[in-house]
Amino acid sequence: NKKVVLRRYVTGYPTAEDMEVVATPGIPLRAPRGSTAAVVVKNLYLSCDPWMRGRMTRHDDGDAVPADDFVLGEALVNYTVGEVVDSTHPEFSAGDLVWGMSAWEEYTLVTKTEGLFKINHPELPLSYYTGVLGMTGLTAYAGLFEVGKPKGGESVFVSAAAGAVGQVVGQLAKIAGCYVVGSAGSDEKVNILKNEMGFDDAFNYKEEKDLNAALRQCLPGGIDIYFDNVGGTTLDAALLHMKVGGRVVICGMISQYNLPEHEGVHNLFCLIPKRIRMEGFAVMDYFHLYARFEKEMAGFIKEGNMSVIEDVVQGIEKAPDALIGLFSGRNVGKQLVAIA
Ligand code: NDP
Repeated sequence: NKKVVLRRYVTGYPTAEDMEVVATPGIPLRAPRGSTAAVVVKNLYLSCDPWMRGRMTRHDDGDAVPADDFVLGEALVNYTVGEVVDSTHPEFSAGDLVWGMSAWEEYTLVTKTEGLFKINHPELPLSYYTGVLGMTGLTAYAGLFEVGKPKGGESVFVSAAAGAVGQVVGQLAKIAGCYVVGSAGSDEKVNILKNEMGFDDAFNYKEEKDLNAALRQCLPGGIDIYFDNVGGTTLDAALLHMKVGGRVVICGMISQYNLPEHEGVHNLFCLIPKRIRMEGFAVMDYFHLYARFEKEMAGFIKEGNMSVIEDVVQGIEKAPDALIGLFSGRNVGKQLVAIA
């Protein structure tokens, strides 16, 4: 059973050498017949997600944020898409296609079955359940609609816009009738946003010396909703351009995850005169919306209202490189690893 394990805890930028692909003897093909219901999943696709970085650092018990650190030498626990091989859980049977919390290995014995979901649209590409129909799609949906609450005609700015969450946020905001601008880290990504994803405008933040000028040019009337995936200087600049009554949806701060100390945000004072609501959210609080989300999102995809860009690498050996690529922006679209 090949698995990706953490070799050492990480400070700063993670490297592929922080992880290792190891083969352990024996494949768990049968769920133990005990008191705890369990499911054996053959993993087909591994999802690469930025939050895995936080779990590569060892946290002290005193940390304000509850730690969910990876255990050295054990398979990295994260989202996958797979097929049930064996089950003692009444709701799952061999042959079911599932997505959810499993681990970065070929076969996983899942005992926390509340994090596993049946795939209801096998007619769509299964890999979509790592992204647009999975956790990152739900993040975009819940963050935009439950926290951002867009109204038709409003202007929405989203960072890391060509990524897994960002691409869905932008397209959902277009469906909601908003004017949508995205930022991304390459001209290739900017082209995709404008020409394949229906964004009204987009810019390459790595080429812009002055983020304020870029925002002023793309959004001269200001921003109603900023969907923040990156934090740092982009959040600071966006705050200056928010309209009165604007909403800042704090989804992620990937620009900060590898820094020894997080950068200060200088323009927080804007919250007061502009009556801005800035709200952090975690997708795990919104899984009760999953059934509604899956139905609506499958509909958008089938109707051609949702383009999906994936970055698929083949083979579990490539998983460490794929994961660290998220932090340099190497991925174009949802990063995933096909392993079977
Ligand atoms: P992406 O698919 O967007 O991949 C990460 C992207 O981030 C890269 O492609 C890169 O794009 C960009 N990036 C990397 N480093 C930097 C940097 N220093 N400054 C600016 N941009 C950078 O990942 P996801 O869509 O999966 O995640 C996006 C964000 O959403 C992350 O912050 C993540 O932690 C957060 N998230 C939050 C959840 C929640 O519950 N709140 C749930 C899921 C995700 P580029 O080329 O444009 O720089």
